Amino acid sequence: MASKQEKRRRAALVEAMVAEDTKEAIENMPLSLAVLGELFDYLDETLEQEGCDHSPRATQLFLSQKGLDPNQVLPWLEEQGGNCDCEILANVEESWESEISKNT
Ligand SMILES: [Zn+2]
Repeated sequence: MASKQEKRRRAALVEAMVAEDTKEAIENMPLSLAVLGELFDYLDETLEQEGCDHSPRATQLFLSQKGLDPNQVLPWLEEQGGNCDCEILANVEESWESEISKNT
């Protein structure tokens, strides 16, 4: 069985790896954390009023209002399980929530 010290060392290692991954993931994002946070707020409101038609319609609209290219951002969202507006809010927000609150 691993000693306490060994366990602590491993935990620190994993933590550092995750932090490094997160940093890299943030650097490779096609939009900033702040804008991503705005997107989630926007989707929250829009879906409440209009519901989801199972397309990323509201997301697309938001991106073009921000001057961002949906062809870059939508595949990135799809990779994370966000194929339509409600999935983006359900699946993608969860992964980024804590980073957004930490960094904005
Ligand atoms: Zn949907």
